[in-house]
Amino acid sequence: MDKIEGYLEVGWKDGEVVVNHPDLKPDENGVGHIVFSPAQARSLATLLIKHASIAEDWTREQQEAERLKNIPPVDRSKRCMTDGSPVTEDHREIDPNTGQQKGYVALCPAERAKGFVRPVRRSYRHMTCNSVTSMGLALAETYARDPGFYSGTFCCHCQKHFPLDQFVWEGTTEKVGS
Ligand SMILES: [Zn+2]
Repeated sequence: MDKIEGYLEVGWKDGEVVVNHPDLKPDENGVGHIVFSPAQARSLATLLIKHASIAEDWTREQQEAERLKNIPPVDRSKRCMTDGSPVTEDHREIDPNTGQQKGYVALCPAERAKGFVRPVRRSYRHMTCNSVTSMGLALAETYARDPGFYSGTFCCHCQKHFPLDQFVWEGTTEKVGS
């Protein structure tokens, strides 16, 4: 007999699967235990696993909804460069060798630490050229804290910036910025 503490005992007898429940008092007809054929037992096991997953998903969704409710709204005035230093006037200047800006603005570390409303994703795909670009943690966390913070981003293959609606998070069909 295998025992699920406090609930059920599961065993077998004469080619059948027997479940004992401590709340059931056996009578002369053997009530107090349930007998399954092996096929029934397998199908019950499948159903138990299926419903356990549904129940766990529900709990996770409740917990996630509760977590999101308690995250303070983003304060977009808390802007820093990606290294945490103050925003510079000339950060938008494009480096002619790379096509990238001199620097990029992100939410400041303390603002990002207040909580993410999306997963932190480091790579996105430019649908136009199908190339993947990875970014640093400050940018990735800014997207996670405030998905609408940026309006465009850089493709390292095209070596240019484009509007966000040309990009999806790598491995998904989810638009960057959503
Ligand atoms: Zn591209």
